[in-house]
Amino acid sequence: MEVQSGTGTGHEIEAPNNITIKGILGLLMANTDAKGNGKKVISLGIGDPTAYSCFCATSASQEAVVDALRSAKFNGYSPTVGLPQTRKAIAELLSRDLPYKLPPDDVYITAGCTQAIEITLSIMARPGANILLPRPGFPIYGLCATFRHLECRYFDLLPYKGWEVDLSAMENLADHNTVAVVIINPGNPCGNVYTYQHLKEIAETAKRLGIVVIADEVYGHLAFGANPFVPMGVFGSLAPVITLGSLSKRWLVPGWRLGWLVTNDLNGSLKSPKFVERLKKYCDICGGPATFIQAAVPAIVEETQEAFFRKTINTLKQTSDICYQKIKEIRCVSCPRKPEGSMAFMVKLNISMLKDISDDIDFCFKLAKEESVIILPGLAVGLENWLRITFAVEPSSLEEALERVKSFCQRHSC
Ligand SMILES: *Cc1c(COP(=O)(O)O)cnc(C)c1O
Repeated sequence: MEVQSGTGTGHEIEAPNNITIKGILGLLMANTDAKGNGKKVISLGIGDPTAYSCFCATSASQEAVVDALRSAKFNGYSPTVGLPQTRKAIAELLSRDLPYKLPPDDVYITAGCTQAIEITLSIMARPGANILLPRPGFPIYGLCATFRHLECRYFDLLPYKGWEVDLSAMENLADHNTVAVVIINPGNPCGNVYTYQHLKEIAETAKRLGIVVIADEVYGHLAFGANPFVPMGVFGSLAPVITLGSLSKRWLVPGWRLGWLVTNDLNGSLKSPKFVERLKKYCDICGGPATFIQAAVPAIVEETQEAFFRKTINTLKQTSDICYQKIKEIRCVSCPRKPEGSMAFMVKLNISMLKDISDDIDFCFKLAKEESVIILPGLAVGLENWLRITFAVEPSSLEEALERVKSFCQRHSC
């Protein structure tokens, strides 16, 4: 399953199950030449918006953590599934968008969404099992599955159909050893937001296949286009759903490492004693996030004002618009779909219009060297000759970076 991409640039990147975004961005960063070209490095690659002051956590969240720490009540271990008040706060938060009330016992507190991914895949792995993953997707899934000897099978997201799941391809990939399908909504890396109808069709397909839907909703509510965010848990009566999320993106505190794994399953297969016991045991292995951060969650959820979320969404709308407009001005790239959610989107590279660039990886390395702009090559998320652009960037830096991309493309055009 491991493909080597020979780029002729001396940069061998492995795909798709053995790479991380951080790994590739590190290589690109090392290839910049700010001294040589006199340009300060701008990254449109990182998924950490906190690098910019316009994406700053609320003081309400920070005070909640300080209060929890100062109370000296949370210096000990928490239950490995999470503090009861934290599970309750997340259950209540998520229940606001569901047609039923989520019991706190169905919420497991994790060290960010990343640990929720690792727990989910680890407890689902068994000899011979496979999992269906989106392409393009989020590389941690492939990497984690590979560590757990869980075979990855990739179905396409359709760029000209709003990055919807190719449902028949998904269905054709599945067999009796398939355990789950992963759906990321709002989408990273595509910036799409699925309709209620499409999510329902995914759940119906999963039901037919007898598999679990793993719903990565780490960008939940970060939607600014026509489609509102609908949680997959709404369809927990159709198919068993495991919802993964965290404070990282919506609350702009990725370093706090506070996430959750939730079973949304009204028919009970995820409530079987065997499954719950496995899940709890795996939580025992992981140990969970810092107790005082967990203890701050009820106040964070309670005290964060709607205006804070609105500001983030307005900024993301503005920066995604800047990207979309600017991409239109650059001849060798095109965007099939205006971003509607999350913090990143995909842009197609027309290699035939560039005279001395062999592929997306070559493009990104030369761009880093000549322009000190970091962009993630599409291969890193499973799509060769595409680019993933993060727009959780300050508007002025974003405009400058895209201007540099434009002049880079002009310089290298045929
Ligand atoms: C950022 C991200 C994660 C990881 O979230 P953390 O809470 O930082 O661990 C998981 N899935 C997707 C799609 C992401 O973009």
